[in-house]
Formats: sequence, C-alpha cells, structure tokens
Amino acid sequence: MRTPLLDVKDLGVEYRSGWRSSPTKAVDDVSLTVGHGEIVGLVGESGSGKSTVGRAILGLTAPARGTIHLGGQDITNRHAADRRDLSTGLQVVFQDPYASLNPACTIGRTLGEPLEVHGKLSAADARTRIEELLTRVGLPADAIDRYPSAFSGGQRQRIAIARAISSDPALVICDEPTSALDVITQARMLDLMSDLSRERGTAMLFIAHNLAVVAAIAQRVVVLYRGRIMETGTTQDVLCRPLHPYTQALIASSPVADPLRQRKRRAARKQADPVAGSEGRAGATPQGCPFAPRCPHATSTCRIQRPAVTLVDGRTVACHLFTADNPTPEGANA
Ligand code: SF4
Repeated sequence: MRTPLLDVKDLGVEYRSGWRSSPTKAVDDVSLTVGHGEIVGLVGESGSGKSTVGRAILGLTAPARGTIHLGGQDITNRHAADRRDLSTGLQVVFQDPYASLNPACTIGRTLGEPLEVHGKLSAADARTRIEELLTRVGLPADAIDRYPSAFSGGQRQRIAIARAISSDPALVICDEPTSALDVITQARMLDLMSDLSRERGTAMLFIAHNLAVVAAIAQRVVVLYRGRIMETGTTQDVLCRPLHPYTQALIASSPVADPLRQRKRRAARKQADPVAGSEGRAGATPQGCPFAPRCPHATSTCRIQRPAVTLVDGRTVACHLFTADNPTPEGANA
C-alpha cells in the first residue's frame, strides 16, 4: 500500500491561559492521513480543535505530543527556516480573504515572490505564469497590476488559491476557505478547488464547520469534537449513514432549505442532542467520552471511560455503543 502523503499520529496540542494554570488539551490523540491527490474534510463545531490541527501541520502551533509526516519526512518540530523549503510541498488557504493578502502589494507581486524564490523563474517568466494562474482561477490577466482592494471577497479568495497552487504543492491546508463567502460564490469556489485538485493531483485537508461544504468536495471525512476524533470514513458513509451520536447531532443541526425537512431535522436534533450548547459541556470528565454530557445514549461507563476507536463497516467510531463484538448496536442509528 502507498504511504500516505500526510500522516498525523497521536497529535496533542495544549494551551495555557496563564503560566500557573494547568494546560488545556485543544487537540488530543488525533491521528489522520491524507493520500496523494485526496481531499479529506475535517469537520466539527467551533472550538472542536480542527483549525488547531491545521496550524500544527503548518508549524504555526507547537504540538505537545505526536508526530506529523509529510511525504515521508518528519515535519513535527521543523524550525521556521526549514519550513521555507517545505512551502513548495505544503501551502495554505485561510478563511479571511481580506487579511490573507497584503493591501500594499499588487497581485503580481503577491503571486510573483514565491515563483521567483522557489520556482527560480525570471521576472518575465514569472509574469507569464501569474497571468496563466489568474486565468485558471477565473480572474482577468490584467488583475496582475491591481491591488487587493480592487477585488471582492470571492475574487480575493481566488487570488489566495492561485498563490497556494503557484508552487504546485502536494498538499494544501484549506482552513474554512469558503465560510466568509455567499452561497453562490462558495459553490463556484468549491468547484474550482475540486477541479484544481483533480487536474494537478493536489491533496487537500479541507477544514470546515459546514457539512454541506465538506460533502461537496471531500472524499473522506474526519469528525472532531473537543479535540478528539469521533468518527472517520468515506463522505458517503459518514454523512449519509452517521454512526457516532455526535455525528448524528451535527448532521441534524445543519439547516436545509425545505421547511418540512427542516422541521423533521429540528425534532431529530432535539432527540440526538438534547443539551446542545455550552451548558451541555459542564459534566465532561477528562477520563470519559467528551460527548457524554450531551449524548442521549450516555451511560455511567461513558462518563468515566474513554471509548476505544473501533473499526465498524470500513470506518472508525469512538463510542462505547460500538465494539468489535457489537458493530451494529440497536438504537445507535436513531
Ligand atoms: Fe454517547 Fe457514550 Fe458513545 Fe460517548 S461513548 S457518544 S456518551 S454512547
């Protein structure tokens, strides 16, 4: 079997609010892989730790535990200087298209720097390449001499995507790249990213809170809650037939346009996640299942014993309802 392009093993990231405080686990024992040319969605609600995983892979946050390998190389604690070489293989598109572009630089300069440094292109060749890139992401070639303020949010995100793919990276970390955009621009952006991934064989770790966005682009999904992986599998399996109670609650809480279906979803959400919100987090213990305070299936075991990750039907689920002896428990798919 081919080695995955990205291999994250037992990743832990901790934060302290003050030097005397005990550390809070933002990410705990997260293991995931992204294959060559594959798009993997990393989903969860706000505060689930999904962006922290992305930041650790990018070297913007130091891991407390675990390892990160990219293309077989250990990049877990790479220094900033070594990261410069790595940037040809690893790139990022951030959520905010306004903050991610320097307002004082023309688009040509923003896109040209990495090409001249990493691609070692002459200024004239770099200009031709930038014009090609701009055309490919759906912008006019004359955008090269304009400043970011001349573009809408969607256009700026296209520029950010052009910058990310300019060095032909093997992997792009996409951290909520469409969440600041309106739905039509969002759909166009997802089509563009999907096409670019297919054309160039670029793998993506697509971080999002919106399941519909992940469903539109990812081949596999990793569901995160409070820094821990709840469920992983193909997009089809996880989103159409969720097994973990948290995944079920997450799907039930995502809105749909049809009012009748939305009413049914609201009822399903109340059943799947009766104490959604911060009040439901109060009873979580570090030793137990993090979803126990919100879970309608929680037992006393769930509060004191962390569920093992079980392979069920080709996917993984971290829940006491599922064991190797009992992969399809009654009531789990409520
Ligand atoms: Fe619910 Fe227990 Fe499963 Fe956690 S381990 S999701 S509390 S049933």
